[in-house]
Amino acid sequence: RGPTREELLEGLNEPQRAAVVHEGAPLLVVAGAGSGKTRVLTRRIAWLISERKAHPGSILAITFTNKAAAEMKERVEELVGKRARIMWVSTFHSACVRILRKEITALDFDGTGFKSNFSIYDAADQKRLMTLVCNDLDLDPRRYQPGAMLHWVSNQKNELKDPEDATKDARNNLEETYAAVYTTYQRRLREANALDFDDLIMFTVHLLQQLPEVRETYRRRFRHVLVDEYQDTNHAQYALIHQLCADNPEDLDGERVEPAELMVVGDADQSIYAFRGANIRNILDFEQDFPNATSILLEQNYRSTQTILTAANSVIGHNKGRKPKRLWSDAGDGARIVGYVADDERDEARFVSEEIDRLTDEGGLRPADVAVFYRTNAQSRVFEEVFIRLGMPYKVVGGVRFYERREVRDALAYLRMLVNPADQVSLRRILNTPKRGIGDRAVACVQALADRDRITFWEALRRAQDAPGLATRSLTAIQGFVAMVEELQSMVDAGERADVVLETVLARSGYVASLEESDDPQDETRVENLAELVAVAREFSDDPQAGPSADPADVDAGTVAPGLSDFLERVALVADTDQIPDAPEDDTGVVTLMTLHTAKGLEFPVVFLTGLEDGVFPHARALGDQPELEEERRLAYVGVTRARERLYISRAVVRSAWGAPAHNPGSRFLDELPVDLVDWRRTEAAQTRWGRPDLASGSAASSGLGTLTDAGRRNFSSAALRADAAARAKPAREMPSLEPGDRVVHDSFGMGTVVALEGVAEKAVASIDFGSEGVKRLLLRYAPVEKL
Ligand code: ATP
Ligand code: MG
Repeated sequence: RGPTREELLEGLNEPQRAAVVHEGAPLLVVAGAGSGKTRVLTRRIAWLISERKAHPGSILAITFTNKAAAEMKERVEELVGKRARIMWVSTFHSACVRILRKEITALDFDGTGFKSNFSIYDAADQKRLMTLVCNDLDLDPRRYQPGAMLHWVSNQKNELKDPEDATKDARNNLEETYAAVYTTYQRRLREANALDFDDLIMFTVHLLQQLPEVRETYRRRFRHVLVDEYQDTNHAQYALIHQLCADNPEDLDGERVEPAELMVVGDADQSIYAFRGANIRNILDFEQDFPNATSILLEQNYRSTQTILTAANSVIGHNKGRKPKRLWSDAGDGARIVGYVADDERDEARFVSEEIDRLTDEGGLRPADVAVFYRTNAQSRVFEEVFIRLGMPYKVVGGVRFYERREVRDALAYLRMLVNPADQVSLRRILNTPKRGIGDRAVACVQALADRDRITFWEALRRAQDAPGLATRSLTAIQGFVAMVEELQSMVDAGERADVVLETVLARSGYVASLEESDDPQDETRVENLAELVAVAREFSDDPQAGPSADPADVDAGTVAPGLSDFLERVALVADTDQIPDAPEDDTGVVTLMTLHTAKGLEFPVVFLTGLEDGVFPHARALGDQPELEEERRLAYVGVTRARERLYISRAVVRSAWGAPAHNPGSRFLDELPVDLVDWRRTEAAQTRWGRPDLASGSAASSGLGTLTDAGRRNFSSAALRADAAARAKPAREMPSLEPGDRVVHDSFGMGTVVALEGVAEKAVASIDFGSEGVKRLLLRYAPVEKL
């Protein structure tokens, strides 16, 4: 027995119900934070299955993270039962992987198409590959930084421009070089039978655009497409949806197929991924892109107190050119916002942890009810240190994640290379790890053979006896390696479980043994991490539903057991997105530390918004740039609206950034909060060393949050601070114009050499090698450096 209509519509207001039961034309639900968009989308899926008898396999729902997908699926299953399992609820990336595994062989790029066992390269793999590309093209890595080039390439892909388009569009030397980089980078990916994350989307779109049969298959299959967080889709993702859902008068047989029913939900004020190519226009232009679209507006917020909402509305109100919204709550005013000005970041972390202690002791809250947000991953470290010392249970979401650790990456490289020997990045990573006597010279000889005979690096290893100039000892080592890999590959071919393959790899390769022999204490932790990875693989192999690529329909029929490649896929996708680990068994849980970007879509009874300093949040990069500043402000809006009952805001007067302590003025977002909503616990910072004399004259006054009373602050804010902010956004003093190689002197670090430069004008950042002090990244606008 399925749920009744009443059960499906229970706990929804009028416009929410309208969205759930809507039929036909494309539907856009626009609404502010916490108004129930995600709830509506989830209910609609249940409604489609239960009331409209949609086949679960005909539903495609897109969420922003894997975690959100898992939750949505679970929720729908609770409502309509297990048959919901075969719906596709996933991120764009996961959905595209599933399509490409089936169809990519049909996309033949000049005769050397991809195979369906392609690898997925993550950020670190991409960087390595880009470094190889720099070598290929003889580019100076100090001038052409892999990170910057990857960003450029990513933008091209998000705009669906392939290397040819990019080459055609290049308008100057720099762009021509970048286009050449893009071309080589793509060629290398193809040789490695690997795709990066942006390729997943771009290739799927190309597939649908270029192959009408494939497009029709998926158009007929997906009768319902639903997209959460639509404001953060980029052009390629938009194009994908368009391919599936736009009205297309006739299909291949000249027969008209009704387009899929499309529902997107989003909030233009929460668009925070412009730097990844997200385009707010997708939501603003929905009605033009999908003629005859229906819009539904939700205005009641069910998440937060009125105080929190008023604060959020007030901040976002400073953005220009947005549609004003009337978001209201009937949850009552609730507690006032608590503010704290800390001496430094340790003091800030201490305040946060003491306050959490108090709330959990006296306020009846659990650590799990609390989240601490910050602008950049690096800010988590101090919280972690203080929390560990005080015994506050916590987890960090994002940051240096499990899957980024060296030993985990090594182990995964072994597995990836077994599945796809053409994957050169993985192969080279482990070729001599642990050391087995295959040195750089041997690698060069093998590479020469590969180049000469136009074969893959792996093929060349197998034919190493033909490699000119290869020493006998190296040849023996290589032959041993090849024999081992082939033996392991036969396990994989036989369909062995991922955990068994992994354990065998770790033993046969001597990897674990080499760690166990070492007396570096870190290596002990590494062994533990590998054990953890085996446990992850075991859990995965035990639960066939867990595989994102295994079509649940096939799994149900018992035809596909999850294999090694399914495991790798899961890992690649999990490691990419801000995956949130499950709460521990213990029901009081732990405090969550996360960046603001990761917090999207979530909610917590208590939220600490930390590091509210100009130059931290808003980020230094955004200070002189209106669009970027507005994006930072949307991020602030996202942060504030995560809180249900209590919001804390804090900043540190002095913060160590990149090694040097910085005196950052208070965030301009603090000035945008209504003063009467904030209860400042501490405004008198003990610090009086306001800035350095060579900073903008206004900065002392603007940091006055620490020295002014609330009343003084009220008078002082707005106009005076705005004028001051403008002054601050300009370089305070002559910035040295630097080139890599220049010698400089820094007030506290002494003599150094410039190794790299990023950004321009007031956003210029130099990486400077100060010898024994190490390499520091310094924002030139502030850094006391002089060119020698
Ligand atoms: P965001 O923009 O942050 O993603 P959202 O619009 O997706 O927010 P939801 O997360 O769906 O909002 O809902 C916010 C909270 O309000 C959730 O706890 C949800 O269960 C609750 N909620 C939504 N609609 C109602 C309703 N009609 N009655 C009671 N609670 C509701
Ligand atoms: Mg939501």
